[in-house]
Amino acid sequence: MPTLTLPGYPRIGQDRELKRATERYWKDPSLEGELLSIARDLRERHWRRQVELGIDLVAVGDFSFYDTMLDASVLFGCVPDRYRALGRPDSLAVYFAMARGTKDLAALEMTKWFDTNYHYIVPEIDGRFELHAENLLAQVREARSLKLRPKPVVPGPYTFLKLAKLAPGLALEDALERIAPIYGELIARLAGEGVEWVALDEPALVLDDPPPADALRRAYDTMGSGAGNLRILLQTYFEDLGTNREFALSLPVGGIGLDLIRGPRQWELLVPDGGLPSDWIVVAGVVDGRNVWRSDLADLLERLSMVQGRLGERLWIGPSCSLLHLPYTVAAEMNLDPEVRDWICFAEERLLELSILKRGLAGGRAAIEAELAINRKILDARQRSERFQDSAVRQRQSKLDESDYTRAPFEERRAVQRVELGLPLLPTTTIGSFPQTVELRSIRNRYRSGKIRRNEYQNFIDASIGEVIRVQEQIGLDVLVHGEFERSDMVEYFAEQMHGMLATSNGWVQSYGTRYVRPPLIYGDVSRPKAMTVRESALAQSLTKKPVKGMLTGPVTILNWSFPHTGLTREEIATQIALALRDETVDLEAAGIRIIQIDEPAFREGLPLRASGRSPYLRWAVRAFRLASSGVRPSTQIHSHMCYSDFNEIIDSIAAMDADVISIENSRSAGELLHAFDRFQYPRGIGPGIYDVHSERVPPVAEMVDLIHRSGRILPRDLLWVNPDCGLKTRRDEEALPSLRNMVAAARQVRASWSGS
Ligand code: GLN
Ligand code: ZN
Repeated sequence: MPTLTLPGYPRIGQDRELKRATERYWKDPSLEGELLSIARDLRERHWRRQVELGIDLVAVGDFSFYDTMLDASVLFGCVPDRYRALGRPDSLAVYFAMARGTKDLAALEMTKWFDTNYHYIVPEIDGRFELHAENLLAQVREARSLKLRPKPVVPGPYTFLKLAKLAPGLALEDALERIAPIYGELIARLAGEGVEWVALDEPALVLDDPPPADALRRAYDTMGSGAGNLRILLQTYFEDLGTNREFALSLPVGGIGLDLIRGPRQWELLVPDGGLPSDWIVVAGVVDGRNVWRSDLADLLERLSMVQGRLGERLWIGPSCSLLHLPYTVAAEMNLDPEVRDWICFAEERLLELSILKRGLAGGRAAIEAELAINRKILDARQRSERFQDSAVRQRQSKLDESDYTRAPFEERRAVQRVELGLPLLPTTTIGSFPQTVELRSIRNRYRSGKIRRNEYQNFIDASIGEVIRVQEQIGLDVLVHGEFERSDMVEYFAEQMHGMLATSNGWVQSYGTRYVRPPLIYGDVSRPKAMTVRESALAQSLTKKPVKGMLTGPVTILNWSFPHTGLTREEIATQIALALRDETVDLEAAGIRIIQIDEPAFREGLPLRASGRSPYLRWAVRAFRLASSGVRPSTQIHSHMCYSDFNEIIDSIAAMDADVISIENSRSAGELLHAFDRFQYPRGIGPGIYDVHSERVPPVAEMVDLIHRSGRILPRDLLWVNPDCGLKTRRDEEALPSLRNMVAAARQVRASWSGS
């Protein structure tokens, strides 16, 4: 019988208990006891659920108050000195200060975890390490006291250091050498607790970069020296090991976890002479931890049976990666279309699939005959469903030609837009959303739960639009927005209105800290039955003479922030979404909207982990954007927005998107911007964000004047725009409006000085 284990389980609580308890604690630190006890309950509930669903070795250490990389920073004593005055290095006060900053201290940097929408806190390494294992050991004991078999999960030394910021002059090799004894100490302590296996997560091994082989092997030798009976599982995921395969197989560990969904070629390791060391176990990651469609169980059983014939008890099974990236359970989706509901698995259903496979491997096909029959029926139904295929969409797709992707040349567009829009030098605008009040959120919830009627909800939205137009005119912005009050989420709003997509009601996945998102399902061909944003934009435009920007979420972002179906390529799905958005731009234009912004904040996140996949991705992603934006007249100005300025790798693609204007993040340093643009003259309008919306601080005019001047030295003045670096949705009016007033004052000041010179 194969052993069943997993790299990690969701931790936020099925009813988002962790978010609520954490945010209560942030407001009132005297509630630490409550937070700790809710955390303990959640861990116990999650472990029990794993065991009920057939897991043999439960994951311990995958629970986190914010992020597991941050937990590892504390575990290994990588707490920068500036935070240490706040308490013990492993206290909650220090922990959350590193995660979110305090009044006086900035937070550690945060960035995306591989190609997911999960963000980790970047460790800061100065070369000193010390072990703080008590929290982890306490959790191991918790699991033991429940009579479970704990498998602690910790980032491996290579991944931990590779993703960290090393102090200047500290080489990765040196850091590895110094941290290895600390890992060794941890492993010895875990062995002392009777732990059988510890998983070291080493997803960095799937990246193109070759690891520093000798140093890393030495580190693993050192780490394992006091392990006794405890064995190390080298856990990989998100890709094939590629050229690092041979190296990974040479490490002194007891087994390896492989992602067979993203790296299906790795099945070849599981044949005789496939290269797997003869005393290793292998955890075959056979069910998808990144997407939701049901697995083909009969197919998996057949392949796994063959492998089991060769490896016997050395074959273990699990999900392809941590289940952190999936919501808890489909059972909580009471309102989901029942047909589509049948087709999907969240975390619990994934474990159920594994437990069925385990029984099948133990007792043969006959033992799970009934489950296989149901599985087959569902897969066939999905394949055949009319909901899945839309011939009108496919036909339209097949008729696309180059002209659908091309607008008139930029200089030509620029000339007509100048006349059409009559904007000043350094036009001021915002990124789209304005603060959403508690009242708005509560009215939206009441509308969703049927407590108030549609027209009552719409009246409230319309009044908010009227108010925000008035406010923007008063502030003196040049290009206005309608404020996005009708949207709780920029992807979900479109998913709810498009055919082929569905929003979930409880499918929360952690994005960072206590910020969770509900990725929609793309279950079939995508199309737009009717206009999605025209009513609100047209209303806003009717209230002002200034141009109002229409606001759409781009095709690549909608795709990247959803669970896409697997019957088409990502390129094909992006094309379908682009066609739907293109119709929307045409309708907006017909309704008198002269500027349309198509946001692509997830454009860069979709970049494949491997360099070989990058240019194909960029090619179709750019084309999807162009398809969405090329249906309008040359006089209609297309904007796009991206929440980062780190364009170095992709600046050519950004230019190829051919937007008339892009707005980007930049407020932290105009220096980074310089970096991308000294190599490449960006040939379009550009609004480098002039202040950081993620902070509650109101930036003074002088500071923004300075930043505009600095941008003006790097970029052509007549192509510069002035705007914040992202939407204002999560701010309060008290912060957002004074900041915008200062921003407009700054633009006017620079405008005057430039026109004078
Ligand atoms: N238009 C969106 C907003 O202003 C953009 C959000 C984003 O970039 N993530 O909220
Ligand atoms: Zn943004």
